[in-house]
Amino acid sequence: MKVARFDNGRIGLVVDAGLIDVSDIAGAGDGQWPDTAPLRLIRDFAALRPQLEEAAQTRQALPLDSVRLETPVPWPNKVIAYPVNYHAHGKEMGAGYRAKNQGFFLKPPSSVSGPADAIELPVVPGREVHHEAELGIIIGKECRDLPPENWREAVFGYACLMDMVVRGREERVFRKAYDTFCPVGPWIVTADEIERPDQLSMKLWVNGELRQAANTRDLVLDIPGMVATASAVMTLYPGDIIATGTPEGVGPVVDGDQVRIVIDQVGEMNLRVIQGNRGATEVFADAYVPPIMKQELTDR
Ligand code: MN
Repeated sequence: MKVARFDNGRIGLVVDAGLIDVSDIAGAGDGQWPDTAPLRLIRDFAALRPQLEEAAQTRQALPLDSVRLETPVPWPNKVIAYPVNYHAHGKEMGAGYRAKNQGFFLKPPSSVSGPADAIELPVVPGREVHHEAELGIIIGKECRDLPPENWREAVFGYACLMDMVVRGREERVFRKAYDTFCPVGPWIVTADEIERPDQLSMKLWVNGELRQAANTRDLVLDIPGMVATASAVMTLYPGDIIATGTPEGVGPVVDGDQVRIVIDQVGEMNLRVIQGNRGATEVFADAYVPPIMKQELTDR
């Protein structure tokens, strides 16, 4: 199933004919704040599934272009992100470490935005803001210390994700924390629809120019390893998001750019980049140009 959020917190299922509104079944769309309805839906999904499937078959679909899609999980307990998880990206960054021996960092849940939201560039003159195309994993179950071989029971589904970043040498979390620096969407594809998440092709274009093209088979720390590593440290909760790392081809975006991410079997997002007038900080007072070493894209 494809689970979408739309029009101020309503929840729908994406089907061939469009979008089936299942807000009543999901207990969503009543303007609650914080909007944690998607977390409960994910937790209770197995029990609600028969009702959801019936709704998908019997209810009238809304045309997809008649709604405004929103990020599927707006209040995750945490967004876990793995740095340098493709060798070719490690090479282009000149990084001597990999996710396997480095662990993860966290992005603030407030950085999460949706498929219809623009990416707002902060006022950081002398700095580059880069795109990082990533597969997002949505956790489905509360768990701690999960053995890697049991990873499937913890995964609810998958989404496209962009880990936006101000390049520099300051704290990684600080550089990746701005609002709209974590677009997730356009919906969640449930795990049962993707038999081999370790063989997904992923591409990112800026204004039609292919910048990133890779396959999740090249992940250094694989999906079972990422779930196990995160759950070794923290209790994972339904709706937690894992940013699995970006492949080679990262680069700057500027005001007016159009960024497109496509992940096979998952979906696609087209995001506008706009220059905001917020976000100036002394931390980024010094100019910095990242010494990116261009790599050949491995998976065209
Ligand atoms: Mn990243």
